[in-house]
Amino acid sequence: MIFNNVNFDTYFKNYPTEDGFFGKYGGCYISPELQTAMKEITHAYNTICKSRKFIDELRRIRREFQGRPTPISHLQRLSDSIGTGVQLYAKREDLNHSGAHKLNHCMGEALLAKYMGKKKVIAETGAGQHGVALATAAAYFGLECDIYMGKVDIEKQAPNVARMKILGAKVVEVTDGLQTLKEAVDAAFAAYAKEYKDAIYCIGSVLGPHPFPLMVRDFQSVVGIEAREQFVDMTGELPDAIVACVGGGSNAMGMFAGFLNDPVDIYGIEPLGRGTALGDHAASLKYGTEGIMHGFNSIMLKDENGEPAPVYSVASGLDYPSSGPEHAFLHDLGRVKYDVINDEETIDAFFTLSRLEGIIPAIESSHAVAYGIKLAQTMKKGSVLINLSGRGDKDMDYVIEKYGIR
Ligand SMILES: *Cc1c(COP(=O)(O)O)cnc(C)c1O
Repeated sequence: MIFNNVNFDTYFKNYPTEDGFFGKYGGCYISPELQTAMKEITHAYNTICKSRKFIDELRRIRREFQGRPTPISHLQRLSDSIGTGVQLYAKREDLNHSGAHKLNHCMGEALLAKYMGKKKVIAETGAGQHGVALATAAAYFGLECDIYMGKVDIEKQAPNVARMKILGAKVVEVTDGLQTLKEAVDAAFAAYAKEYKDAIYCIGSVLGPHPFPLMVRDFQSVVGIEAREQFVDMTGELPDAIVACVGGGSNAMGMFAGFLNDPVDIYGIEPLGRGTALGDHAASLKYGTEGIMHGFNSIMLKDENGEPAPVYSVASGLDYPSSGPEHAFLHDLGRVKYDVINDEETIDAFFTLSRLEGIIPAIESSHAVAYGIKLAQTMKKGSVLINLSGRGDKDMDYVIEKYGIR
Protein backbone atom coordinates (compact mmCIF):
# COMPACT_ATOMS: atom_id res chain seq x y z
CA MET A 1 0.00 0.00 0.00
CA ILE A 2 1.36 3.43 -0.95
CA PHE A 3 0.24 6.31 1.21
CA ASN A 4 1.46 9.87 0.66
CA ASN A 5 4.51 8.60 -1.25
CA VAL A 6 5.51 6.15 1.51
CA ASN A 7 5.43 2.50 0.43
CA PHE A 8 4.09 0.52 3.37
CA ASP A 9 5.02 -2.83 1.75
CA THR A 10 8.64 -2.04 2.63
CA TYR A 11 7.98 0.34 5.54
CA PHE A 12 9.77 -1.63 8.28
CA LYS A 13 12.88 -2.02 6.11
CA ASN A 14 13.10 1.71 5.45
CA TYR A 15 11.93 3.27 8.72
CA PRO A 16 13.85 4.21 10.70
CA THR A 17 16.91 4.85 8.53
CA GLU A 18 20.25 3.43 9.64
CA ASP A 19 20.89 6.46 11.83
CA GLY A 20 17.46 6.35 13.38
CA PHE A 21 15.31 8.78 11.39
CA PHE A 22 11.62 8.59 10.58
CA GLY A 23 11.59 11.44 8.08
CA LYS A 24 13.01 14.39 10.04
CA TYR A 25 12.09 12.87 13.42
CA GLY A 26 14.18 10.64 15.69
CA GLY A 27 17.98 10.61 15.59
CA CYS A 28 20.42 10.45 18.49
CA TYR A 29 21.14 13.82 20.12
CA ILE A 30 23.31 12.94 23.12
CA SER A 31 26.79 13.40 24.58
CA PRO A 32 29.80 11.72 22.92
CA GLU A 33 30.20 9.13 25.75
CA LEU A 34 26.61 8.08 25.39
CA GLN A 35 26.96 7.96 21.58
CA THR A 36 29.49 5.16 22.10
CA ALA A 37 27.08 3.30 24.35
CA MET A 38 24.21 3.73 21.86
CA LYS A 39 26.38 2.44 19.02
CA GLU A 40 27.10 -0.67 21.08
CA ILE A 41 23.39 -1.24 21.72
CA THR A 42 22.53 -0.60 18.06
CA HIS A 43 25.12 -3.13 16.93
CA ALA A 44 23.94 -5.68 19.48
CA TYR A 45 20.32 -5.13 18.48
CA ASN A 46 21.07 -5.61 14.77
CA THR A 47 23.00 -8.83 15.34
CA ILE A 48 21.80 -10.55 18.54
CA CYS A 49 18.10 -9.73 18.28
CA LYS A 50 17.97 -10.97 14.68
CA SER A 51 19.52 -14.34 15.63
CA ARG A 52 17.40 -17.50 15.66
CA LYS A 53 18.48 -18.25 19.23
CA PHE A 54 17.34 -14.89 20.60
CA ILE A 55 14.05 -14.96 18.71
CA ASP A 56 13.27 -18.50 19.88
CA GLU A 57 14.11 -17.72 23.50
CA LEU A 58 11.97 -14.57 23.51
CA ARG A 59 9.07 -16.53 21.96
CA ARG A 60 9.33 -19.19 24.64
CA ILE A 61 9.40 -16.54 27.40
CA ARG A 62 6.38 -14.79 25.91
CA ARG A 63 4.45 -18.06 25.95
CA GLU A 64 5.60 -19.59 29.26
CA PHE A 65 6.18 -16.56 31.47
CA GLN A 66 4.15 -13.69 30.05
CA GLY A 67 1.11 -15.76 29.13
CA ARG A 68 1.04 -14.74 25.48
CA PRO A 69 -0.75 -14.65 23.17
CA THR A 70 -3.18 -12.44 25.06
CA PRO A 71 -6.74 -12.89 23.78
CA ILE A 72 -9.04 -10.57 21.86
CA SER A 73 -12.43 -10.19 23.53
CA HIS A 74 -15.62 -9.30 21.69
CA LEU A 75 -17.23 -6.51 23.73
CA GLN A 76 -20.77 -7.71 23.07
CA ARG A 77 -22.70 -5.83 25.75
CA LEU A 78 -20.82 -2.60 25.11
CA SER A 79 -21.51 -2.91 21.37
CA ASP A 80 -25.23 -3.60 22.03
CA SER A 81 -25.43 -0.56 24.32
CA ILE A 82 -24.22 1.72 21.50
CA GLY A 83 -26.87 0.39 19.14
CA THR A 84 -25.38 1.34 15.75
CA GLY A 85 -24.55 -2.29 14.97
CA VAL A 86 -20.83 -1.48 15.10
CA GLN A 87 -18.95 -4.21 16.97
CA LEU A 88 -16.21 -3.36 19.49
CA TYR A 89 -13.32 -5.67 20.37
CA ALA A 90 -10.43 -5.39 22.82
CA LYS A 91 -6.88 -6.73 22.58
CA ARG A 92 -6.28 -7.79 26.17
CA GLU A 93 -2.83 -6.50 27.18
CA ASP A 94 -4.33 -6.20 30.65
CA LEU A 95 -3.88 -9.99 30.76
CA ASN A 96 -0.17 -9.83 29.90
CA HIS A 97 1.88 -10.77 33.01
CA SER A 98 2.22 -7.83 35.41
CA GLY A 99 -0.95 -6.29 34.00
CA ALA A 100 0.12 -4.17 31.03
CA HIS A 101 1.95 -4.12 27.73
CA LYS A 102 5.18 -2.65 29.16
CA LEU A 103 6.60 -6.09 29.99
CA ASN A 104 6.72 -6.83 26.22
CA HIS A 105 9.64 -4.49 25.67
CA CYS A 106 11.20 -4.93 29.12
CA MET A 107 11.60 -8.70 28.58
CA GLY A 108 13.19 -7.99 25.19
CA GLU A 109 15.53 -5.34 26.58
CA ALA A 110 16.56 -7.47 29.57
CA LEU A 111 17.12 -10.55 27.37
CA LEU A 112 19.37 -8.39 25.17
CA ALA A 113 21.23 -7.26 28.32
CA LYS A 114 21.83 -10.90 29.21
CA TYR A 115 23.10 -11.78 25.72
CA MET A 116 25.40 -8.72 25.81
CA GLY A 117 26.87 -9.98 29.10
CA LYS A 118 25.62 -6.99 31.11
CA LYS A 119 25.03 -7.37 34.84
CA LYS A 120 22.65 -4.51 35.38
CA VAL A 121 19.69 -2.68 33.85
CA ILE A 122 19.12 1.02 34.55
CA ALA A 123 15.99 3.08 34.00
CA GLU A 124 14.00 6.03 35.19
CA THR A 125 10.36 5.89 36.12
CA GLY A 126 7.70 8.52 36.76
CA ALA A 127 4.49 6.81 37.82
CA GLY A 128 6.41 3.62 38.49
CA GLN A 129 4.85 1.36 35.84
CA HIS A 130 8.02 1.10 33.78
CA GLY A 131 10.07 0.55 36.92
CA VAL A 132 7.82 -2.35 37.96
CA ALA A 133 7.93 -3.96 34.50
CA LEU A 134 11.71 -3.67 34.33
CA ALA A 135 12.15 -4.95 37.90
CA THR A 136 10.01 -7.96 36.90
CA ALA A 137 12.23 -8.66 33.88
CA ALA A 138 15.42 -8.16 35.90
CA ALA A 139 14.25 -10.63 38.54
CA TYR A 140 13.44 -13.18 35.84
CA PHE A 141 16.93 -12.94 34.31
CA GLY A 142 18.87 -12.43 37.56
CA LEU A 143 20.07 -8.94 36.63
CA GLU A 144 20.66 -6.06 39.03
CA CYS A 145 18.17 -3.26 38.52
CA ASP A 146 18.58 0.43 39.43
CA ILE A 147 15.45 2.54 39.04
CA TYR A 148 15.85 6.33 39.29
CA MET A 149 12.80 8.08 40.61
CA GLY A 150 12.09 11.64 41.77
CA LYS A 151 11.47 12.04 45.50
CA VAL A 152 8.03 13.53 44.82
CA ASP A 153 7.07 10.55 42.67
CA ILE A 154 8.39 8.08 45.27
CA GLU A 155 6.02 9.60 47.82
CA LYS A 156 3.06 9.60 45.40
CA GLN A 157 3.56 6.08 44.07
CA ALA A 158 4.09 4.04 47.22
CA PRO A 159 2.53 0.76 45.94
CA ASN A 160 4.74 0.71 42.83
CA VAL A 161 7.83 1.55 44.91
CA ALA A 162 6.97 -1.41 47.18
CA ARG A 163 6.53 -3.69 44.14
CA MET A 164 9.94 -2.72 42.75
CA LYS A 165 11.60 -3.37 46.10
CA ILE A 166 9.87 -6.74 46.57
CA LEU A 167 11.11 -7.70 43.09
CA GLY A 168 14.66 -6.90 44.22
CA ALA A 169 15.24 -3.59 42.43
CA LYS A 170 17.11 -0.66 43.96
CA VAL A 171 15.00 2.52 43.88
CA VAL A 172 17.36 5.50 43.71
CA GLU A 173 15.81 8.69 45.07
CA VAL A 174 16.46 11.80 42.92
CA THR A 175 16.34 15.08 44.84
CA ASP A 176 17.38 17.57 42.13
CA GLY A 177 15.07 20.29 40.77
CA LEU A 178 11.36 19.48 40.89
CA GLN A 179 12.20 15.89 41.95
CA THR A 180 10.00 14.29 39.28
CA LEU A 181 10.41 12.47 35.95
CA LYS A 182 12.63 14.96 34.12
CA GLU A 183 15.25 14.97 36.89
CA ALA A 184 15.00 11.16 37.14
CA VAL A 185 15.77 10.87 33.39
CA ASP A 186 18.83 13.12 33.77
CA ALA A 187 20.10 11.21 36.83
CA ALA A 188 19.59 7.83 35.16
CA PHE A 189 21.42 8.94 32.00
CA ALA A 190 24.29 10.32 34.11
CA ALA A 191 24.58 6.99 35.96
CA TYR A 192 24.46 5.10 32.69
CA ALA A 193 27.25 7.21 31.16
CA LYS A 194 29.44 6.02 34.07
CA GLU A 195 28.32 2.40 34.11
CA TYR A 196 27.67 1.47 30.49
CA LYS A 197 30.37 -1.17 30.38
CA ASP A 198 28.41 -3.29 32.88
CA ALA A 199 24.89 -1.99 32.40
CA ILE A 200 22.32 -1.16 29.77
CA TYR A 201 19.72 1.54 29.85
CA CYS A 202 16.16 0.40 29.26
CA ILE A 203 13.78 3.01 27.97
CA GLY A 204 10.09 2.71 28.86
CA SER A 205 8.51 3.66 25.54
CA VAL A 206 9.22 4.33 21.84
CA LEU A 207 11.29 7.34 22.94
CA GLY A 208 14.84 8.47 23.47
CA PRO A 209 17.86 8.30 21.19
CA HIS A 210 18.21 5.73 18.38
CA PRO A 211 18.00 2.68 18.61
CA PHE A 212 15.35 2.78 21.35
CA PRO A 213 12.34 3.91 19.29
CA LEU A 214 13.14 1.11 16.81
CA MET A 215 13.88 -1.52 19.44
CA VAL A 216 10.85 -0.84 21.62
CA ARG A 217 8.55 -0.78 18.57
CA ASP A 218 9.88 -4.10 17.38
CA PHE A 219 9.48 -5.72 20.82
CA GLN A 220 5.95 -4.32 21.12
CA SER A 221 4.94 -5.32 17.58
CA VAL A 222 4.01 -8.75 19.00
CA VAL A 223 0.75 -7.02 20.06
CA GLY A 224 -0.23 -5.96 16.54
CA ILE A 225 0.98 -9.12 14.84
CA GLU A 226 -1.01 -11.33 17.24
CA ALA A 227 -4.04 -9.05 17.07
CA ARG A 228 -4.24 -9.05 13.25
CA GLU A 229 -4.11 -12.84 13.05
CA GLN A 230 -6.57 -13.33 15.93
CA PHE A 231 -9.02 -10.80 14.56
CA VAL A 232 -9.06 -12.36 11.09
CA ASP A 233 -9.51 -15.82 12.69
CA MET A 234 -12.40 -14.59 14.80
CA THR A 235 -14.32 -12.53 12.25
CA GLY A 236 -13.00 -13.51 8.81
CA GLU A 237 -11.97 -9.94 8.07
CA LEU A 238 -9.84 -7.01 9.23
CA PRO A 239 -11.23 -4.46 11.69
CA ASP A 240 -12.39 -1.21 10.09
CA ALA A 241 -10.60 0.84 12.73
CA ILE A 242 -8.06 0.35 15.50
CA VAL A 243 -7.59 2.63 18.51
CA ALA A 244 -4.82 2.96 21.11
CA CYS A 245 -3.84 5.55 23.72
CA VAL A 246 -0.58 7.46 23.22
CA GLY A 247 1.72 8.57 26.01
CA GLY A 248 5.23 7.94 24.75
CA GLY A 249 3.48 5.69 22.31
CA SER A 250 4.71 2.11 22.82
CA ASN A 251 1.41 0.24 23.16
CA ALA A 252 0.05 2.21 20.20
CA MET A 253 3.11 1.61 18.01
CA GLY A 254 3.01 -2.12 18.84
CA MET A 255 -0.63 -2.36 17.81
CA PHE A 256 -0.27 -0.10 14.75
CA ALA A 257 2.74 -2.11 13.49
CA GLY A 258 0.41 -5.01 12.68
CA PHE A 259 -1.96 -2.89 10.56
CA LEU A 260 0.02 -0.07 8.89
CA ASN A 261 -0.04 -1.81 5.50
CA ASP A 262 -3.77 -2.62 5.66
CA PRO A 263 -6.86 -0.66 4.66
CA VAL A 264 -7.63 0.04 8.32
CA ASP A 265 -8.26 3.46 9.89
CA ILE A 266 -5.79 3.98 12.73
CA TYR A 267 -6.38 6.31 15.69
CA GLY A 268 -3.89 7.38 18.36
CA ILE A 269 -5.51 9.01 21.38
CA GLU A 270 -3.79 11.61 23.53
CA PRO A 271 -4.95 12.92 26.92
CA LEU A 272 -6.77 16.28 26.88
CA GLY A 273 -6.80 16.32 30.69
CA ARG A 274 -8.65 19.36 32.07
CA GLY A 275 -8.68 21.32 28.79
CA THR A 276 -6.73 22.96 25.98
CA ALA A 277 -4.60 25.46 28.00
CA LEU A 278 -0.88 24.65 28.17
CA GLY A 279 -0.27 22.75 31.41
CA ASP A 280 -3.78 21.24 31.48
CA HIS A 281 -3.16 18.39 29.02
CA ALA A 282 -0.44 16.22 27.48
CA ALA A 283 -1.63 16.18 23.86
CA SER A 284 1.78 16.82 22.31
CA LEU A 285 0.98 15.69 18.75
CA LYS A 286 -2.19 17.77 18.65
CA TYR A 287 -0.85 20.99 20.16
CA GLY A 288 2.95 20.71 20.08
CA THR A 289 5.69 21.80 17.68
CA GLU A 290 8.92 20.23 16.44
CA GLY A 291 11.74 20.10 18.98
CA ILE A 292 14.52 18.04 20.55
CA MET A 293 14.34 16.63 24.08
CA HIS A 294 15.69 13.52 25.84
CA GLY A 295 17.95 12.74 22.89
CA PHE A 296 15.49 12.72 19.97
CA ASN A 297 13.66 15.07 17.60
CA SER A 298 9.87 14.86 17.67
CA ILE A 299 6.79 16.99 18.24
CA MET A 300 6.72 18.37 21.78
CA LEU A 301 4.90 20.77 24.07
CA LYS A 302 7.16 23.71 24.95
CA ASP A 303 7.03 26.48 27.53
CA GLU A 304 7.92 30.11 26.70
CA ASN A 305 11.65 29.27 26.87
CA GLY A 306 11.39 26.35 24.47
CA GLU A 307 11.86 23.83 27.30
CA PRO A 308 9.55 20.82 27.79
CA ALA A 309 6.28 22.27 29.15
CA PRO A 310 4.53 21.08 32.31
CA VAL A 311 1.85 18.56 31.37
CA TYR A 312 -1.14 17.02 33.09
CA SER A 313 -3.44 14.02 32.66
CA VAL A 314 -5.59 11.97 35.01
CA ALA A 315 -3.54 9.05 33.65
CA SER A 316 -0.02 9.32 35.03
CA GLY A 317 1.26 6.96 32.29
CA LEU A 318 0.27 9.47 29.61
CA ASP A 319 1.66 12.73 31.01
CA TYR A 320 4.78 13.15 28.90
CA PRO A 321 5.43 16.38 26.93
CA SER A 322 6.32 14.58 23.69
CA SER A 323 5.67 11.31 21.86
CA GLY A 324 7.92 8.90 20.00
CA PRO A 325 9.42 10.14 16.71
CA GLU A 326 7.59 7.49 14.68
CA HIS A 327 4.26 8.91 15.87
CA ALA A 328 5.35 12.40 14.79
CA PHE A 329 6.20 10.93 11.38
CA LEU A 330 2.90 9.03 11.00
CA HIS A 331 1.10 12.15 12.20
CA ASP A 332 2.62 14.39 9.50
CA LEU A 333 2.08 11.68 6.91
CA GLY A 334 -1.58 11.38 7.85
CA ARG A 335 -1.42 7.57 8.05
CA VAL A 336 -2.53 7.69 11.70
CA LYS A 337 -5.13 10.16 12.92
CA TYR A 338 -4.34 11.59 16.37
CA ASP A 339 -7.21 12.84 18.46
CA VAL A 340 -7.91 13.60 22.14
CA ILE A 341 -10.09 12.45 25.04
CA ASN A 342 -10.41 14.45 28.27
CA ASP A 343 -10.42 13.29 31.92
CA GLU A 344 -14.22 13.24 32.28
CA GLU A 345 -14.76 11.11 29.16
CA THR A 346 -12.00 8.80 30.38
CA ILE A 347 -13.56 8.19 33.79
CA ASP A 348 -16.96 7.54 32.18
CA ALA A 349 -15.36 4.93 29.92
CA PHE A 350 -13.55 3.39 32.92
CA PHE A 351 -16.90 2.70 34.62
CA THR A 352 -18.74 1.77 31.40
CA LEU A 353 -16.28 -0.97 30.47
CA SER A 354 -16.21 -2.25 34.07
CA ARG A 355 -20.02 -2.42 34.31
CA LEU A 356 -20.81 -3.78 30.86
CA GLU A 357 -17.92 -6.17 30.33
CA GLY A 358 -16.41 -7.06 33.71
CA ILE A 359 -13.08 -5.55 32.68
CA ILE A 360 -11.58 -2.77 34.82
CA PRO A 361 -9.26 -0.90 32.43
CA ALA A 362 -6.21 1.20 33.31
CA ILE A 363 -7.02 4.93 33.18
CA GLU A 364 -4.52 5.20 30.31
CA SER A 365 -6.37 2.52 28.34
CA SER A 366 -9.72 4.13 29.24
CA HIS A 367 -8.79 6.97 26.86
CA ALA A 368 -8.78 4.46 23.99
CA VAL A 369 -12.02 2.88 25.22
CA ALA A 370 -13.73 6.30 25.34
CA TYR A 371 -12.62 7.06 21.79
CA GLY A 372 -13.67 3.62 20.53
CA ILE A 373 -17.16 4.22 21.92
CA LYS A 374 -17.35 7.67 20.28
CA LEU A 375 -16.19 6.25 16.99
CA ALA A 376 -18.73 3.42 17.10
CA GLN A 377 -21.48 5.99 17.68
CA THR A 378 -20.59 7.82 14.45
CA MET A 379 -20.06 4.75 12.23
CA LYS A 380 -22.97 2.98 10.52
CA LYS A 381 -21.48 -0.50 10.53
CA GLY A 382 -18.23 -2.40 10.89
CA SER A 383 -15.84 -3.03 13.74
CA VAL A 384 -13.43 -1.23 16.03
CA LEU A 385 -10.51 -2.96 17.78
CA ILE A 386 -9.27 -1.19 20.92
CA ASN A 387 -5.86 -1.88 22.44
CA LEU A 388 -6.56 -2.37 26.13
CA SER A 389 -3.01 -1.57 27.23
CA GLY A 390 -3.41 -2.43 30.92
CA ARG A 391 -5.64 -3.31 33.84
CA GLY A 392 -7.05 -0.75 36.24
CA ASP A 393 -6.28 -2.31 39.62
CA LYS A 394 -3.53 0.29 40.14
CA ASP A 395 -6.09 3.10 39.61
CA MET A 396 -9.09 1.96 41.65
CA ASP A 397 -8.31 3.75 44.93
CA TYR A 398 -7.53 6.98 43.12
CA VAL A 399 -10.70 6.87 40.99
CA ILE A 400 -12.96 6.18 43.97
CA GLU A 401 -11.34 8.90 46.07
CA LYS A 402 -11.44 11.54 43.35
CA TYR A 403 -14.63 10.68 41.44
CA GLY A 404 -16.64 8.37 43.68
CA ILE A 405 -18.60 5.42 42.33
CA ARG A 406 -20.54 6.31 39.17
C1 LIG B 1 2.68 3.33 30.56
C2 LIG B 1 1.33 3.00 30.08
C3 LIG B 1 0.79 3.60 28.93
C4 LIG B 1 1.50 4.68 28.16
O1 LIG B 1 2.70 4.32 27.57
P1 LIG B 1 2.84 4.13 26.00
O2 LIG B 1 4.30 4.02 25.79
O3 LIG B 1 2.24 5.33 25.34
O4 LIG B 1 2.11 2.90 25.63
C5 LIG B 1 -0.47 3.19 28.50
N1 LIG B 1 -1.17 2.26 29.17
C6 LIG B 1 -0.70 1.68 30.29
C7 LIG B 1 -1.54 0.67 30.97
C8 LIG B 1 0.56 2.03 30.79
O5 LIG B 1 1.02 1.45 31.91
